[in-house]
Amino acid sequence: MNENMISTSVKEIIKSLPNNILLVAAAKTRTPKEVKTAIKAGIKIIGYNYVQEAEQIYENLDTAVIVKWHMIGHLQRNKAKRAVQLFDMIETIDSKRIAKAVNRHCQDIGKNMPALVEINSGRESNKTGVMPDEVDDLVKEISSLSNLRIQGLMTMGPRFGNPEDARLYFKAAKSIFDRLREAGIPNVEMKYLSMGMSNSYQVAIEEGANVVRIGTKLFGSRCKV
Ligand SMILES: *Cc1c(COP(=O)(O)O)cnc(C)c1O
Repeated sequence: MNENMISTSVKEIIKSLPNNILLVAAAKTRTPKEVKTAIKAGIKIIGYNYVQEAEQIYENLDTAVIVKWHMIGHLQRNKAKRAVQLFDMIETIDSKRIAKAVNRHCQDIGKNMPALVEINSGRESNKTGVMPDEVDDLVKEISSLSNLRIQGLMTMGPRFGNPEDARLYFKAAKSIFDRLREAGIPNVEMKYLSMGMSNSYQVAIEEGANVVRIGTKLFGSRCKV
């Protein structure tokens, strides 16, 4: 898409979303110019899958500081230090190990990191995220970490095909979200439920998402995934 098209699609999607929904622009593979155009058109949160790619764009964007940066890809422990410096939220905490690494690096720089726990709502072996039956234990275990603020859950669900096929995954995530909220675990806020992408965000919102991560529908199709 050219700049006008990006600008138009950003504005259209923002207009179409209910007020309580946060829109994360999933910006992998996009150029600084494309990201800049999206910010100009109203994007407030940028999502990245890789620390290094986020860093490169950050450095080439004079408007980088006016938006929030969310880590939406699997975070490796050896990237946690940079991730902590760069991101305003990590949506993909899926193990005690990574939670502790993030916490330790946050302590080093005196930062409190908002975080979501990523769940593998489809129990797919090739996907990241904690299994649904292990979420409660993980959340409890990491809730006491001093510099991590658990604020909700994130899930991927199937990326392609009929969005209706994703509904079950979203329902599963929502029921875990509700259960954890009712559990009232100290230091755990169940405030954000991040689910839904270009093909499925409407279904996700129907099922209770209040954060959606959209790439293709804002920027056009990607050459590489
Ligand atoms: C790429 C990506 C998205 C957006 O996907 P689209 O189909 O391009 O909208 C959302 N979430 C994550 C984690 C992604 O990697």
